[in-house]
Amino acid sequence: MPLLALNNVEVVYDSVSLAVKGVSIDIEAGGLVALLGANGAGKSTVLKAISGLLSAERGKVSGGSITFDGGDLLGLGAPERVRRGIAHVLEGRRVFEHLTPAENLFAASSMHRDRGHVRELMDKVMAWFPRLAQRAGSPAGYLSGGEQQMLAIGRALMTEPRLLMLDEPSLGLAPLLVDEIFDIVRRINADARLSVLLVEQNAVAALGIAQRAYLIENGRVVMTGSAESLSSNPDVQEFYLGGAQGQQKDYHAVKHYRRRKRWLT
Ligand code: ATP
Repeated sequence: MPLLALNNVEVVYDSVSLAVKGVSIDIEAGGLVALLGANGAGKSTVLKAISGLLSAERGKVSGGSITFDGGDLLGLGAPERVRRGIAHVLEGRRVFEHLTPAENLFAASSMHRDRGHVRELMDKVMAWFPRLAQRAGSPAGYLSGGEQQMLAIGRALMTEPRLLMLDEPSLGLAPLLVDEIFDIVRRINADARLSVLLVEQNAVAALGIAQRAYLIENGRVVMTGSAESLSSNPDVQEFYLGGAQGQQKDYHAVKHYRRRKRWLT
């Protein structure tokens, strides 16, 4: 049984606009799965359907089912989903800018009563992200973008999730920092056996650490498979990986670039 299963999920905003059109996704316990796609494809909406954050945006799951560890999620509010083990790191690295990294982590631990346990969790997060320990005395607003992203992930880890959902952690970060953060995510997945659902436009980075991936376009899954199979797919290479083997494409030499993608035919 998968840890998380979306079956034919539909999401509508403002009761009229269908943003997700029958998406089915499975994540096995301990899996690291990427959800790829261009701007506006529906990736963030899928994450919000899972974490229960749609209602704040007048969105609603209008069809299908979502189960976590075999239990139905759709009847539960967002706080209960966190208690069940779902953590959602929103796009845009939301941290409390006037608080230090440690204070930010502490503020994310309100579900735990035991102070000693909170201390242990904070130590674990600082061990995963040594840069946060180095910046312990600075308000989070003074941290770099990459450090703020680490802190946002660290805050999610304070809830001791079983599924960590990350929405575009690479956004606006220099390539070396993306590598550093993705390497930590891969190690957390491997060493702590924490399942990860990674939403990314940076398909190269995401396919570098994911075991499996789903490609979503216009609210529909158009391709799924192992990270290797997507990486070697000519259409994925052309449209999402910047040309074969990452080489720059000479668009002037391509007469009929606007040919239909093979998965649409
Ligand atoms: P991005 O990478 O830009 O975040 P995405 O793949 O995550 O893109 P979504 O943000 O899920 O895409 O958007 C999917 C569709 O739903 C888009 O057409 C978008 O305009 C629409 N949408 C998203 N949020 C809302 C909202 N709060 N109200 C109405 N429509 C929305």
